[in-house]
Amino acid sequence: MISRRQFFHTTLSASVAAAIPMLPGCEKKVPIATEADTSIRGISLDGAELELEKTAIRELGESMTGPVLLSGHPEYDSTRMIWNGMHDKRPALIARCMSSRDVSNAVTFARERRLLTAVRGGGHSWPGKSVCDDGIMIDLSPMRAVTADTEKRRAYAGGGALLNALDTASLEHGLVTTAGVVSHTGVGGFTLGGGFGRLNRKYGLAIDNLRSAEIVTADGKIRRINDQEDADLFWAIRGGGGNFGVVTEFEFELHPFDRNVLSGSIVWPVAQARDVLEFYGDWYQGLSDELYVGPTMATMPDGTAIILMEVVYNGDPTMGEKELEPLRKIGTPIDDGVKVQDYMVMQTQEDAAFGHGVRSYIKNGMVREITQGLVDAMIEAYINDPRLALFTHTVGGAAKRVGEMDTAFPHRNAETMLIVGGGWMDPADDESAIALSREWYYKLDPFTGGYYDNIDFDGAEAAGNYGPAYPRLRQIKGQFDPGNLFRLNSNIEPAA
Ligand SMILES: Cc1cc2nc3c(=O)[nH]c(=O)nc-3n(C[C@H](O)[C@H](O)[C@H](O)COP(=O)(O)OP(=O)(O)OC[C@H]3O[C@@H](n4cnc5c(N)ncnc54)[C@H](O)[C@@H]3O)c2cc1C
Repeated sequence: MISRRQFFHTTLSASVAAAIPMLPGCEKKVPIATEADTSIRGISLDGAELELEKTAIRELGESMTGPVLLSGHPEYDSTRMIWNGMHDKRPALIARCMSSRDVSNAVTFARERRLLTAVRGGGHSWPGKSVCDDGIMIDLSPMRAVTADTEKRRAYAGGGALLNALDTASLEHGLVTTAGVVSHTGVGGFTLGGGFGRLNRKYGLAIDNLRSAEIVTADGKIRRINDQEDADLFWAIRGGGGNFGVVTEFEFELHPFDRNVLSGSIVWPVAQARDVLEFYGDWYQGLSDELYVGPTMATMPDGTAIILMEVVYNGDPTMGEKELEPLRKIGTPIDDGVKVQDYMVMQTQEDAAFGHGVRSYIKNGMVREITQGLVDAMIEAYINDPRLALFTHTVGGAAKRVGEMDTAFPHRNAETMLIVGGGWMDPADDESAIALSREWYYKLDPFTGGYYDNIDFDGAEAAGNYGPAYPRLRQIKGQFDPGNLFRLNSNIEPAA
């Protein structure tokens, strides 16, 4: 069976793979190396040089359960590396947090010094916002446990949990919530930015399933927030990203779910793209909430240009087969891998293709209507290059029925998301692959309105992208983070 992104072939070199932190969390606390210098160089929130006293760093380490890592520590390099190999940054110190108290101490240390602060959840930030040069990295990866309460139908995920653990802990009990399409992505950044997944038409975005959170705000306070307690703050974190504090626990609603789902991909030669896309342009409007579909145009590693439709039907497979019938009559597929299979097959099938250490650039735009003009542009813009692809992610359904201001997520009217980008291993490819991605994406951009911040390398204009939510977000930012400690994100300017 051809997976949606199999072309995104990224074979990791042994050295890159070895440098990826694997399930960290319980390692012994290692004392900070002592050197002749009494301080190390840091950088302030405004970019000014700072002297960080080693005694203060040692005190921070002693106040925490997890270790503080400095350059030269055996785990420093593997911890500072994030998913996208384009980012090679060296924090002055890394606070590996094992508890909310650890996070609070690290936040207080940073705030008191106005030290540049990066927060790392799962480390999948495309633009590399979870790491910085000369600041502090608050590393949540030791806090990755997920537990499920079957009676309450809730999952509790640590601030550094990965989507795989969220899916696994829920499915074990015949339950599920919306998680994204690559299972080593972090729950943290994914959820705070919105959270699209193959179940979003039925259950909404990840934020629509968030029932409460524990968060450490810039003042160091640990708060449990929901739609009653600190309701403004709870509203803001549902779409406002990491602007408001460090979330140490997410509580998600779970739904009963049969993990044997009708799912897979149907693949056609790209020459049949017009038939497939024109069909999709009519079909998506009448889809049931149970059916998720997403067309992808790509080039396989052997040079074969394809269009494929990924399908997940969350319901009775017989009903799903019926709904898929018209799709199966389109053109002459070269592969049809849609069958009843375990949901985790789909949820993990792209993990290796999107391996850690890949160099990756991506852009997206939200689409309200698939017009003939858009279909023509998708066909005309296609670039035959195995490093690149056009993905779509169908939204609509339950995600669209949530009111525009019910959460801080601004793209409720979208029917689909267009994503253009790719991955490669050789830095020498950076310039050409980024230029081609941009060339491809900007032919489609006139058909979009706003972009999804989580899947965009450039993420420029925060104010415009938050839409009508922005003034309220600014007020809440001003209340909870007036000094803009949490600024390495799609940043919201605190209201005075
Ligand atoms: C391979 C891949 C597949 C993806 N698939 C999907 C998908 O299917 N659906 C989708 O919606 N998105 C998807 N994304 C985008 C993804 O949602 C974002 O990259 C997201 O930021 C990843 O979260 P993270 O915790 O791994 O990232 P990190 O790099 O750790 O964090 C990104 C930012 O989020 C904030 N942050 C993270 N954790 C916390 C926390 N606990 N508290 C406070 N702030 C925090 C910080 O501001 C940080 O800079 C994908 C990304 C990749 C690389």
